[in-house]
Amino acid sequence: MSADCLFCRIVERTLPATVVAEDETLVSFQDINPQAPTHILIVPKTHIANVADLTDATAPAIMGRLTLMANRLAKQFGFADDGYRLVVNCGPHGGQTVSHLHLHLLGGRRMTWPPG
Ligand code: 5GP
Ligand code: ZN
Repeated sequence: MSADCLFCRIVERTLPATVVAEDETLVSFQDINPQAPTHILIVPKTHIANVADLTDATAPAIMGRLTLMANRLAKQFGFADDGYRLVVNCGPHGGQTVSHLHLHLLGGRRMTWPPG
C-alpha cells in the first residue's frame, strides 16, 4: 500500500470507484475515462509500480491472475466471443500515467491497430 497511489486508494476504498470484481489478490473497476464501451482496469492489491518491477517469483502468478480475471470479465460483459483487447502500459514512453500495475480490458467495439 502506497498512501499517495491512486489505485492503492481504490483498493483500500478511500477513493471511490465502480468496482466490478474483487478476489483475494485483485480488484477490477471501471476506467474513469473509458476508451471503449467497456473499459475495466484490473489491478493487484499489492503495490507494484509496473511490469518492469515484476520478478521471477511474482510475475507468473500476478500476470496469470490478471489475465484470467480479464477473460472472466469478458464473458461476464458479453464480448468474449467477439474478442477484446488487453493492454499493459509501462513507463513514460509506454503511456503509463498511474504507477500501479494495471491491465486494461477493452471490449464492445472493434479495435484498430497500430495503437497511437
Ligand atoms: P495508464 O495510462 O497508466 O495505462 O492507465 C491509467 C488509467 O487510469 C487511464 O485509462 C485513466 O483513465 C484511469 N484513471 C486515472 N485516474 C483514475 C481514477 O481516479 N479512477 C479510475 N477509475 N480510473 C482512473
Ligand atoms: Zn499502488
